[in-house]
Amino acid sequence: MKKWYQLDVEQVEQKLQVTTNRGLTPKQVEQRHKQYGYNVLESTKQTSKWIIFLKQFQDFMVLVLLAATLIAGMLGEFVDAIAIMVIVLVNGFIGYFQEQKAEKSLEKLKELSAPMANVFREQKWDKISSRELVVGDIVKVSSGDRVPADIRIVKSNSLETEESALTGESLPVMKHATAIIRDDLDAGDQVNMGFMGTLVTRGSGIGIVVGTGMNTVMGQIASLMSSTKKIPTPLERKLAELGKILIVVAILLTILVVGLGVIQGHPVYNMFLAGVSLAVAAIPEGLPAIVTVALSLGVQRMIRKKAIVRKLSAVETLGCASVICSDKTGTMTENQMTVKEMFLNGENISVTGDGFDIEGKFLIGKKKLNENHPNLETMLLYGQLCNNATLQVKKGKYYVDGDPTDGALVVAARKIGLNHMSGDNFKIIKEIPFDSDRKRMSVVVEDENENRFLITKGAPDVLLPRCNYYLEHENRKLIKQRDRDKIENAIDGMAEKALRTIAISMRPISKDTSLESAFLEKDLTFIGLYGMIDPPRKEVRTAIEECRQAGIKTVMITGDHVKTARAIAKDLKLLPDNGLVLEGSQLNQMSTSELEETIEDVYVFARVTAEHKLKIVKAFQSRGHIVAMTGDGVNDAPAIKASDIGISMGISGTDVTKEASSLVLMDDNFATIKAAIQEGRNIYENIRKFIRYLLASNVGEILVMLFAVLLGMPLPLVPVQILWVNLVTDGLPAMALGLDKPEDDVMKRAPRSPNEGVFARGLGFKIITRGIMIGIVTLIGFMVVYQDNPDNLVYGQTIAFTTLVMAQLIHVFDCRSEKSVFERNPFENMYLVFAVISSVLLLLVVIYWAPLQPVFHTVPLALSDWMLILGLAAIPTVLFGFTKK
Ligand code: ADP
Ligand code: MG
Repeated sequence: MKKWYQLDVEQVEQKLQVTTNRGLTPKQVEQRHKQYGYNVLESTKQTSKWIIFLKQFQDFMVLVLLAATLIAGMLGEFVDAIAIMVIVLVNGFIGYFQEQKAEKSLEKLKELSAPMANVFREQKWDKISSRELVVGDIVKVSSGDRVPADIRIVKSNSLETEESALTGESLPVMKHATAIIRDDLDAGDQVNMGFMGTLVTRGSGIGIVVGTGMNTVMGQIASLMSSTKKIPTPLERKLAELGKILIVVAILLTILVVGLGVIQGHPVYNMFLAGVSLAVAAIPEGLPAIVTVALSLGVQRMIRKKAIVRKLSAVETLGCASVICSDKTGTMTENQMTVKEMFLNGENISVTGDGFDIEGKFLIGKKKLNENHPNLETMLLYGQLCNNATLQVKKGKYYVDGDPTDGALVVAARKIGLNHMSGDNFKIIKEIPFDSDRKRMSVVVEDENENRFLITKGAPDVLLPRCNYYLEHENRKLIKQRDRDKIENAIDGMAEKALRTIAISMRPISKDTSLESAFLEKDLTFIGLYGMIDPPRKEVRTAIEECRQAGIKTVMITGDHVKTARAIAKDLKLLPDNGLVLEGSQLNQMSTSELEETIEDVYVFARVTAEHKLKIVKAFQSRGHIVAMTGDGVNDAPAIKASDIGISMGISGTDVTKEASSLVLMDDNFATIKAAIQEGRNIYENIRKFIRYLLASNVGEILVMLFAVLLGMPLPLVPVQILWVNLVTDGLPAMALGLDKPEDDVMKRAPRSPNEGVFARGLGFKIITRGIMIGIVTLIGFMVVYQDNPDNLVYGQTIAFTTLVMAQLIHVFDCRSEKSVFERNPFENMYLVFAVISSVLLLLVVIYWAPLQPVFHTVPLALSDWMLILGLAAIPTVLFGFTKK
């Protein structure tokens, strides 16, 4: 049997029952999905739900508690034993659901950032998720894409792929469409095939899918690939370490409590159970899980704001960002290019019409031009031939499929009636694609008389030095310095109006001229200039201003002309009066240290290439900045990787940059970066809030027991009560704090230092002082009642239990603000209000519902008791609530 690469395109089509100019029908697609499944590499096995559930109980202290409960059961303390068991089980369930939730949202994230494929079905191009591809699908790949499946190339446009993932060979391979006769070729030699997972480094191509999922070359070696593990974020790691320390502290304190208690004559067994419960309560074992939940819930909020986080750790780093380096075109601007001016025959022509609308006139002064105006039609036709975009209609509205810069030229050509049919007499025999480093694009065209010529269009300052002639009216003239000056003038004029400039030129070539790219683009004849507008996005100006207030500097990076860049930067209020604009050529001449010296004053980098971006990132980083860097093209990947927060574009971005990035902007919009940073800061603050709450509560719980044994008193809390507090009072409100809204000034503070510890900015002090206060008021409540009713210990314990719970539930509102509790409206966070209300209701049930009273060692309380309790419980918050400490 012949291999795919040995077959002609027609044979492949026949075999797969598809034609390249039609694509598969929905019915065929459906049938093939059934037959072959989806285009995915088999993922690693999922952890079973039981394992996740059982994992909740593997904690050492929980096991000790379970053992202790078992002993209690054997000693006949059935009520205690069962109550503790139930609480431990419920705790396990909650942990299980939290973990499930975190897991699920991470899965969803993966789906969202899954690669897309350009597919041709039923004569229509469409973007679909790569996993939907089936054998026989026609797909288009272009530079920056990962090949979505194994494909047999049917059309190659200077297509090159890098296949090191398969072959180990890192040099790109040129691809073509002709069949290869030889047998037994390795993947690396099958140069008319594209393989799943390999990278398109140049050009573009069309292919027929011949293998999907595990039936691809990549699928065969998929088992060798390592599965992606969840890597803990820096904060999660810090907390895990903190957790270990806290475990030791909690156990030591527990031993102290138990030891002192036994010395003072408490029964060993009682003290043991109390101690173990205390340890279980005091160890914030749930903290990492809650942090993960808070992070992933934050991530979901970001998705709603159109930012997809690819690495959870980015959420934390986002809050530290101090510089955003952003692409101009498409990120700060709309990427809706419209030709507004042209320069031809030494004259300025203005073009009317907005956006991609095809109505418009060409005017010199007030005079309307028609297609007979010398060279006008030629220029517009050439602009259309040296082009990769097409104009499409959807619901009566025109839009551009392809590069918007190219699209603008197509639209301009339409304005004098040229459409895609106009190019039918011409054959493109070669294309040298545009890339941001070359800043130009060329095609070799053959007309109906088999005359060949080259069309090159690109950045004027790149083209002009390659031009020896220029076109004026009917003549081709030698370019003199005077003419160059005139053209330069026209360029400046356009650029100062914030127009993006493109020059177009041509060169007749004979049939026997070599088509080798390196020799083509020279000795050109300059035809004219296009000046196109790309309006800034409305929301960007405010976003830049908000970033400035948040201590974040915004830097514009563009391949455009300096003057264009400067004009737009001014318009966006990004460039202050004393701010500098640097050009790529200047960057080349600067040493690293020179750049580091000036970079703080630079706001715009113009005419830069991807290489410069890396230099810029490094320079900012060496000044101690945390840098967010955007990018879309293949070559941007290194800079994105080197930055602290790599940002890629969801719409215009390539697979490579997306893979390198930690954040994807679904709408390519700068304002979304700001929103993500804001959310990143908020998430971190919320995490601080519940750490503060949980730890202060734990400190309070331990101290009330410790104080009691130190003072030689009976135990103010029984084990079930401690566990209940741990479950109900600590759990729900802490989760709700994770959903809190930011304080008004989150975007008015300077960025947080990435080296900052969890307890920075006074958090540790707050935890200790509030913890001590909660411990003290609880003990006071207990003492007051117990002294009057020494024979009614349960009464005193009920008071202590209730005071502890209420003090924590009041304190939780304090945790919402870094400043003062009175700064914030408590009803702003309804989750928290509900959490607190349900905790209170559960407390009332435990106290007043007779069947539970023996279980939780409680007695019903009178109104006077409540006044005492509430008075005491409010003290810590009222006392400290006024201060910022
Ligand atoms: P940016 O994306 O930062 O605006 P680019 O690298 O895309 O910068 O473009 C740099 C310059 O290259 C533009 O100012 C323009 O002169 C030229 N250019 C842009 N797109 C094209 C294209 N499709 N064909 C030819 N030249 C182009
Ligand atoms: Mg661009």
